[in-house]
Amino acid sequence: MLLTYKIEIKPTEKQAWQIDSHISGSRWAYNLFLDINRQRYECGYHYMGAYEFSKWFNYEYLEANPDDTWIKDLYAKSVKQAFIDADTAMKRFFKKLGGFPHWRSFKRGQGSYYFVKNSKAQIIPCQRHRIKLPKLGWVRLKEFGYIPTDAEHFVIKQGRIKFKAGRYYLTCLVEQAELPKSELTGEPVGIDLGLKEFAILNDGTLYHNQNKSSRVRSIRKRLRRLQRKMSRQYQALKARRQKEGKSATDLNLAKTQRKVQRLYQQLTNIQSDYQNKIIATVVRTKPQWVALEDLNVKGMMKNRYLAKAISHQGFYNFRNKLATKCQQFDIPVHLTGRFEPTSKLCHQCGHKKVDLKLKDRVYECSNCNYTKDRDINAALNIRDTENFELAY
Ligand SMILES: [Zn+2]
Repeated sequence: MLLTYKIEIKPTEKQAWQIDSHISGSRWAYNLFLDINRQRYECGYHYMGAYEFSKWFNYEYLEANPDDTWIKDLYAKSVKQAFIDADTAMKRFFKKLGGFPHWRSFKRGQGSYYFVKNSKAQIIPCQRHRIKLPKLGWVRLKEFGYIPTDAEHFVIKQGRIKFKAGRYYLTCLVEQAELPKSELTGEPVGIDLGLKEFAILNDGTLYHNQNKSSRVRSIRKRLRRLQRKMSRQYQALKARRQKEGKSATDLNLAKTQRKVQRLYQQLTNIQSDYQNKIIATVVRTKPQWVALEDLNVKGMMKNRYLAKAISHQGFYNFRNKLATKCQQFDIPVHLTGRFEPTSKLCHQCGHKKVDLKLKDRVYECSNCNYTKDRDINAALNIRDTENFELAY
């Protein structure tokens, strides 16, 4: 079984510099691949795949362009991977699975340092607090003991380092033995996702909406202010560019951009941490299945009054994460049909209450006098419905 681990690292100044040059080098290589192949196409030459390109690059291109030999100082596998990535993107384009690949840009935080386990015998040494990578040497990890260090049962196959909002993150792919299949003995779980509260389980467990917490609200407030500032600075820069020409720069604008990036990152981290915790709690009970609504997020986003609130909830992410985690433990995930009237049905007798209003917080059945909290009733229906698809 292959699992991905993601962790922040703490490179030294020298390592950070090395990582930066690998990242920009991989961007350069990626763009070169696209550029050359486009030129070749225009001149009627055949398309060069990654393998052929890499050979041509090393023997012919670098001979002819001695200015670019700095790329030789970088870890060769990392450069080659950039060609492979570009090749994959082009092949997707040929198969009409995607558009013509974009150029990799610094602005979009693209490019990565790539490492790989070369041979069967080689191992990528990792200790609880550090990992040894080609060209960089031992790199300190920010979280101790997260990446498995038992090299016999956990094999680090490959990985990447990326730079995002002022921090360096390492992701690595680890081959490990299947987890022993434990019996699913827990009660099935139904989850009702919403805007008022983030999630309500059928047993009444309530997960509040993080977006209403003072922490998130204050970050959003700071973010709004900074974005206004950023747009003012941007306008000013534009005006200066017209007067002074293209060389005008604004370091203060760059600083504000960095701050904005960091706040966005902070929001993402808060959300994914919260969601991970919910998922971990649910999975720990070993439920026989987990059910949630297959929300029509795209359709809901069309309602412009709710679009922002919905996008802030991150339902789509939650669903994907939950499905991935459950798959590891072989827990089936039921996705309830989009048009299933889960909140209108009585969980006890199946009567459909057509006139249920949004403000009715308690479900009262006119048929069998069953009363239940509205959301718990919905969660129970989600759990027990037979109109579902499996998430994986
Ligand atoms: Zn009823």
